[in-house]
Amino acid sequence: MKIGDVELFWLDGGRFSLDGGAMFGVVPKVLWSKKYPCDEENLVPLVAFPVLVRTPRSLVLIDTGLGNKLDDKQKKIFGVEAGWRVPDELRSMGVSREDIDLVVLTHYDFDHAGGVVMMSEKGLELTFPRARHILQEAEWEDVLNPNRRSAHTYWSINRELLGESGRLELVSGDSEVVGGVRVVHTGGHTRGHQAVVIESAGEKALHLGDLLPTHVHLKPLWITAYDNFPLDSIRMKETLLGHGTDEGAWFTLYHDPFVRAFRIGEEGTVSELWKDEE
Ligand SMILES: [Zn+2]
Repeated sequence: MKIGDVELFWLDGGRFSLDGGAMFGVVPKVLWSKKYPCDEENLVPLVAFPVLVRTPRSLVLIDTGLGNKLDDKQKKIFGVEAGWRVPDELRSMGVSREDIDLVVLTHYDFDHAGGVVMMSEKGLELTFPRARHILQEAEWEDVLNPNRRSAHTYWSINRELLGESGRLELVSGDSEVVGGVRVVHTGGHTRGHQAVVIESAGEKALHLGDLLPTHVHLKPLWITAYDNFPLDSIRMKETLLGHGTDEGAWFTLYHDPFVRAFRIGEEGTVSELWKDEE
């Protein structure tokens, strides 16, 4: 996909599934199941697809996928079907792991930050050793001091090497991280959750992370049961959806197996879908 002079590519960061109730929160199944499939165990299919953003000057990766460190038990719990092919896919595009300048992490849940640290022949290493890793300061504080609930998703194996590496760059609030790429602190899903705004030559894309995991989560009230601060999620999602709609922006998706991005038309519904030819 092209946004002005910037190119976006979705990389295979793994496929998994979660309970439909967890993904759609208080929305009754009779409503969400008309729009999104589930199996007999109520599991809904998801992907974790990082977006590679190639600006004229930088290579930016938004989130990192599931990574390759999940053990068999974790794979079973999260219904992981397919592995994590981010380094392979980059290589097939002629891009090495060392070429990535910036990793922007929407937040540090394992399905977004699992690919920050990878297992290689040499052992554990930073997947993108030269990249600045951009995270909200509030998110890192919580990663270092997880609560009863977040301890299940902020895993020390995903943070230790990054914390020691000098490659972590904490921002607070809204910040331009490279020309044309901006982060916006949203909170909501997690306290330090951030969205990413890409702007080039009058065109725009908004990546709302887990505030907008799939195109079916379009309505502001359709948020996941994982959201720690649901009223903040609703408020920020409504604000960003409104701005993006007014500006004709694309909304890019991380967890949707069916749609990579969409635009919203005048009626406030999806007007244009972008899918990969797979
Ligand atoms: Zn997620």
